[in-house]
Amino acid sequence: MSADQSKMETLKSSLSGFIDMGLRDHPNEIDERMEFFLKNPSKRIYVEIPIRVGKGNMAVYTGYRVQHNNARGPFKGGLRYHVDVDLDHFEILASLMTWKCSLVDVPFGGAKGGIDVDPEEVSEQELEAITKKYVDKLKNDIGPDVDIPAPDMGTGMREMGWIFEQFSKSAGYKPGVVTGKCPEIAGIHGRSEATGYGIAHVTKKALEEAVKDVDSSSVAIQGFGNVGRHLAQRLDEMGAKVIAISDKSGGLYCEDGIKLRSIIDKLAEAEPKSLSLAELGGDLSGAKKISNEELLGLEVDVLIPAAIEGVLHQGNADKVRASLIVEGANMPMSFEAEKILRQKDIDIIPDIFANAGGVIVSYFEWVQNHQRDQWSRETVLERLEKQLDKAWEKILQKKKQDELDYRTACYSIAISKVIVAMEMRGLQ
Ligand code: NAD
Repeated sequence: MSADQSKMETLKSSLSGFIDMGLRDHPNEIDERMEFFLKNPSKRIYVEIPIRVGKGNMAVYTGYRVQHNNARGPFKGGLRYHVDVDLDHFEILASLMTWKCSLVDVPFGGAKGGIDVDPEEVSEQELEAITKKYVDKLKNDIGPDVDIPAPDMGTGMREMGWIFEQFSKSAGYKPGVVTGKCPEIAGIHGRSEATGYGIAHVTKKALEEAVKDVDSSSVAIQGFGNVGRHLAQRLDEMGAKVIAISDKSGGLYCEDGIKLRSIIDKLAEAEPKSLSLAELGGDLSGAKKISNEELLGLEVDVLIPAAIEGVLHQGNADKVRASLIVEGANMPMSFEAEKILRQKDIDIIPDIFANAGGVIVSYFEWVQNHQRDQWSRETVLERLEKQLDKAWEKILQKKKQDELDYRTACYSIAISKVIVAMEMRGLQ
């Protein structure tokens, strides 16, 4: 088995283990059939996308969409452009979306999809043609009340604009077919920072629950992309000491706190070239270079893996010295890692709650599109905090009442709402 296959098997069995933790709380409601529906997607879509490239040659890409569960509302989930995408991976991510939406009371189900294209390797015109052909092939499977894609790795406002346009060509003006659009074409203010902002808010809540203040806490963040960058800045504004950050090139560590402003300014100066942290060079105001593995083992109050899946596993979980882990990325730890970390009394705030800020604000965008309205950034972020606080109260209540860990409490709440919706609609 290749390293990639083995990572995928670990992710699959970890998700199944996490769902089982939540199911254990509902022994009377679950029969074999219901368990099948909860653990497997409702639909897997696979399409060929032939386009003309260069001087008339043809290239064929593959498009995917996995729709997991829509008992609570239309399917919802990101669209990833990356050469290494496949249905198995999207199955895991689509399922996470179902639980995330349910947990934070967003009336959507879960989906995920993408195309096996490297956006850096094709021209903008080719990428537009690929995206629009993907929409044509999926036009009966997506729509504002059917399945609503959003940006993910390799896609952003530009691709969402193309999807909106192509879908509207046959269906009439339908901005609600995608979220993550540019504010000028019915997008929402505050979406780019929503996930990082939400993770910072959740971190503050979890610290307060552990009787700690955010402004006397040290934090290490893995990942300095859209999520990690906004998260680091927000925690810094809240008074936390961000002592380490990293991206795929490696990390930076400073005991007195990373000088985020100067790093972000340097990255901005280099644009449109996107510099990695290792390429920054020059004076980093006392920061020294560390590896990603070293970052995960730092002695900090909070560790936030906010990059990719599976970074905490059986082989390194015992090296973690943080007292709280907040999962910024989707599935950053395996089921086995979680067991080791819980034995070490480390609290874990799971991805399906921690990074739900993104889908909450996507839902606000969809609501605005239906109402032909647009709220200010302040209103968006204020409503985001309120929605997270409401879910947090329910999680705490469940955790304390049934003496559960955070992940089991979250999965149990999320699963029970999906079960009720399936039963009430006669979907099982
Ligand atoms: P991004 O592509 O903007 O950034 C990813 C970051 O991770 C980059 O800094 C990259 O260098 C780093 N990285 C990649 N491989 C790495 C490795 N092997 N070790 C360490 N760092 C590595 O992605 P993003 O939007 O910031 O998303 C990060 C995570 O958060 C993903 O798991 C994503 O699924 C999840 N997430 C994102 C959103 C959102 O709104 N963007 C919402 C929910 C969850």
